[in-house]
Amino acid sequence: MAILVVDDSASMRQAVSIALKKGGYDVVEAADGKQALAKCTQKFQAVVLDKNMPVMDGFAFLKEFKATPQGRFTPVLMLTTESRQEDKMEGKKLGLTGWIVKPVKGDVLLATIKKIAK
Ligand SMILES: [Mg+2]
Repeated sequence: MAILVVDDSASMRQAVSIALKKGGYDVVEAADGKQALAKCTQKFQAVVLDKNMPVMDGFAFLKEFKATPQGRFTPVLMLTTESRQEDKMEGKKLGLTGWIVKPVKGDVLLATIKKIAK
């Protein structure tokens, strides 16, 4: 299994991937929610999800992902520059496991993933 990393910023995806691979995780990357959904033919241990993305943003992806049989039980961590309380509450309602505000150190992200990944 692997961790799915969804972010429209290539450098962000790369930084997150490096941190997770250091922890021994395999990583699959997607540049937006639509790409991410297309990759959900396999199971993931967790999803690291950006909020603001073109084509399909983080919340739109989350809604569709949580409606799938495997997505329901897959932890999703939001990793975003946003920190509005309303967004966090909306995310929780949609089934988010956690919320981390960018920028985050690689080892902090890895420690969080270790706690939530299946
Ligand atoms: Mg973004």
